Amino acid sequence: MNKTMTLISAALLMAGAVTSCQKTASDSARSAYDRQFEDYPTYNGDDLELTVDSTGTRFRLWSPKAEEVELSLYNEGLNGTPYQTVQMTFQPENGTWTASLPEQLYGKYYTFKVKHDGKWLAETPGVWAKAVGANGKRAAIIDFAQTDPEGWAEDKGPKVDNFTDVIVYEMHHRDFSVSPTSGIANKGKFLALTEQGTLSPEGLPTGIDHLKELGVTHVHILPSYDYNSVDETALEKNQYNWGYDPQNYNAPEGSYSTDPSDPAARVKEMKQMVKALHEAGIGVIMDVVYNHTAENDGSNFELTAPGYYHRHWDDGSYSDASGCGNETASDLQQMRDYIINSVKYWADEYHIDGFRFDLMAIHDMETMNQVAAELKKVNPSIFVYGEGWTAGDSPLPAEQRALKENVAKMTDIAVFSDDIRDAVKGHYSNAEDRGFATGKPGNEETVKIGIVAATAHPQVDYSKGNNSKFAYASSPEMIVNYVSCHDDLTLTDKLRKSMPDATDEERMKAAKLAQTIIFTSQGTPFMFAGEEIFRDKKGVHNSYQSPDSINAIDWSLKAKNHDQMDYYKGLIALRKQHPAFRMTTAEQIAEHLEFDSIDREKTPNLISYTLKDNANGDSWKDIKVIFNGSDQPRTVDLPEGTWQAAVKDGKIDPAANLGTFTGTATVSPRTALILKR
Ligand code: CA
Repeated sequence: MNKTMTLISAALLMAGAVTSCQKTASDSARSAYDRQFEDYPTYNGDDLELTVDSTGTRFRLWSPKAEEVELSLYNEGLNGTPYQTVQMTFQPENGTWTASLPEQLYGKYYTFKVKHDGKWLAETPGVWAKAVGANGKRAAIIDFAQTDPEGWAEDKGPKVDNFTDVIVYEMHHRDFSVSPTSGIANKGKFLALTEQGTLSPEGLPTGIDHLKELGVTHVHILPSYDYNSVDETALEKNQYNWGYDPQNYNAPEGSYSTDPSDPAARVKEMKQMVKALHEAGIGVIMDVVYNHTAENDGSNFELTAPGYYHRHWDDGSYSDASGCGNETASDLQQMRDYIINSVKYWADEYHIDGFRFDLMAIHDMETMNQVAAELKKVNPSIFVYGEGWTAGDSPLPAEQRALKENVAKMTDIAVFSDDIRDAVKGHYSNAEDRGFATGKPGNEETVKIGIVAATAHPQVDYSKGNNSKFAYASSPEMIVNYVSCHDDLTLTDKLRKSMPDATDEERMKAAKLAQTIIFTSQGTPFMFAGEEIFRDKKGVHNSYQSPDSINAIDWSLKAKNHDQMDYYKGLIALRKQHPAFRMTTAEQIAEHLEFDSIDREKTPNLISYTLKDNANGDSWKDIKVIFNGSDQPRTVDLPEGTWQAAVKDGKIDPAANLGTFTGTATVSPRTALILKR
């Protein structure tokens, strides 16, 4: 299969994959082929590949079965021939190859070359290159102390007490800043997020000021490690890629820097970005894709320790749970340690505040538990979550996979709720399909599963769930709720395709209802950048390599759809002010969240519940939340007392001055009504 095809299929499969989880359940143990790697000696020292100190420069490559290893040193990052080659020495006790040079080789580049089964493999920067030349072919030797912005030692991300307090904004660097309407100078770069005071053509804040105005607590940046698909020597071609094609896991992507040929620039500029966001009170979550590599035989894993880092079937062929041609082997010690050390490195060197694991179920639960535990030691505020599914079959037995359904067996890991996603808006892969918020009956119980963050609740009947049939989470901190993300149609496009006869005004009403469900549900809310201004992707669902004309956010939409922006701001403010929406235990939810009984036959697409008795220490004694996804007004009985409206008819007022209700409340079609007493 050619690469374009594999990437397309991967992106398609990555999107939902609930069905593939069920299909891929497998009882096979590690394949006969992969058992040969179990007794490889491992090495977990902190001096893998490169160390520069007062004694000079030392190299140590892990490659237990290599017959010879050669180190090449270069003056240039991409062209030219080595100015020196060094034969490395084998250390059989830990499977590493070492070489030392007496000078500090700052400014130089290096590669390794491994002889395996009588054959010299291609040069590789290794798997631990922390700085690289353009296109990531050679590792660079730089002084990391020189890459720190001023005040870096004091830099800190926001402190997070409970992960349900986090509000995630998922963005791609290029989408966010590349449009001329962004008013941002460093378009498509890390530095875009350091620019203050940028404005849309209509004079409204964009960039980091927009994020502050919106009120999100964390940005989740799409892959920002060095990926394969964009030619860093030809940036004038304006290439675009999501970046799910990892090349060097421990160096930033060059096309997001102002100069990919300067190995320090990408490091320095990414740190500047993190610092600017931290100063704005915003955390930075990185999307990480340890589950597969862009290339198979040509990957840095294969070129250093052939066979080891990827999984295989019994016949030695690559298994492919990623849908991208291969999958990695987190269940083998050296790979497990690699993932753990890599995220720790990003947390430590770049002050990253969270990690979103792509196709997390390709990894085993033990690895994910260790990832979370080790990151907690670096910084207890670090948030770890992932896609609890695979995109194809894997030799890793289902009971070991970090699946959504296994989340309660893990510690400090959250998973995306595809339950609420598909139930609210309609199925992700069927563009015309509608959901609860767009008037399709039969999704009510699945939305309720989302509202209680997939925890056990006496009034939720999991047998009626569309996707999952049991309460798979034991805490709301295990669930990330969302209605859309970079994969598939944006919410705007989904509403245009599933409500073909409606106006955009009507669709925006549905969008508000959909996101009100997400932002008031228990768990952690997650949104896709630009939806707050009704951003679209011109109907393209798999835009992983679409041009800027599809992917760029048009910031003129902010003035045009200011009512939408105001609503999102209000939703976020409401959630932040009211801990009732952010309960921290399943027991609290069962005790303080009470659904009204509703006749589904008579009044479909209606959900009503109360957050009662100052839930989670809320200042409001009782909060009534009513969602009406139908196209008819619905009336709900209210308990005694006077109820004040905080959300009504597409408006939000966190001070709850939108009118009062007693006895009953009528909810307009396709809106939410939130009351307090
Ligand atoms: Ca790259």
